[in-house]
Amino acid sequence: MSLEGKVALVTGGSRGIGRAICLRLSKMGAKVYVNYVSRPEAAEETKKLIEEQGGTAEIIAFDVADTDAVQAALKEIGSVDILVNNAGITRDGLMARMKESDWDDVMNTNLKGAFTCAKAAARSMMKNRWGRIINITSVIGFAGNAGQANYAAAKAGLVGFTKAMAREYASRGITVNGVAPGYIVTEMTEKLPVEVQETIKSEIPMASLGSVEDVAGAVAYLAGDDGRYVTGQTLHVNGGMYM
Ligand code: NDP
Repeated sequence: MSLEGKVALVTGGSRGIGRAICLRLSKMGAKVYVNYVSRPEAAEETKKLIEEQGGTAEIIAFDVADTDAVQAALKEIGSVDILVNNAGITRDGLMARMKESDWDDVMNTNLKGAFTCAKAAARSMMKNRWGRIINITSVIGFAGNAGQANYAAAKAGLVGFTKAMAREYASRGITVNGVAPGYIVTEMTEKLPVEVQETIKSEIPMASLGSVEDVAGAVAYLAGDDGRYVTGQTLHVNGGMYM
């Protein structure tokens, strides 16, 4: 399952799930562009880890919510074969108190960002008649969650977006799929109070949170030859939490 000669861009690849995806795609042979927006030291660390395992990485800073910045970055990279739309944020709060800016920030980063990155990356994929777009959605987009109306809407939106784009690009050798993690140990989930983490575990049939490598493995499958005939799907990686 070699990605030798392929170029991958992982948005939000600097830490958490994105870092594990970068490392996995690099291990499969791809040259990896590690994107971040605010923490250059995390991106440097990811690049270092990729190089330590014998891979090649470049760092590219841009805000996925900024369309001009996305277009400039994709122009700079030139040709992208594998795009992983992983960058994501939360701005949690119950509906009654959720500010319009909390809604807009999450939509612009988690949903619009995926659209602009995919649109820009698809150009070179069309020319090469080969491409893989993988959108990191969430169990919350399927099950919903109190306090996450904005996040659930953006992640559910990604699922519809994945299917529509998959239909449009299938004949060009481009697959578009989603990966929906359940609760994975990262900074995003470590922020949750301990009692909330315990409640979450009690709702997971496998009784533990997932690891970033669990998600990276699903991305690797969809990016590699084994996933060749799979498009428009969302692969759930959640310990049985949502079926
Ligand atoms: P983290 O908070 O650990 O990392 C987020 C990454 O996204 C960082 O690299 C961050 O860069 C980057 N980022 C944030 N905003 C932007 C932006 N506007 N432009 C570019 N990069 C940005 O997140 P996780 O690893 O936990 O999550 C990764 C993805 O997986 C997200 O889409 C999340 O919604 C999804 N997910 C996570 C789950 C979990 O349990 N952790 C469960 C289900 C889905 P910087 O550090 O520079 O700010």
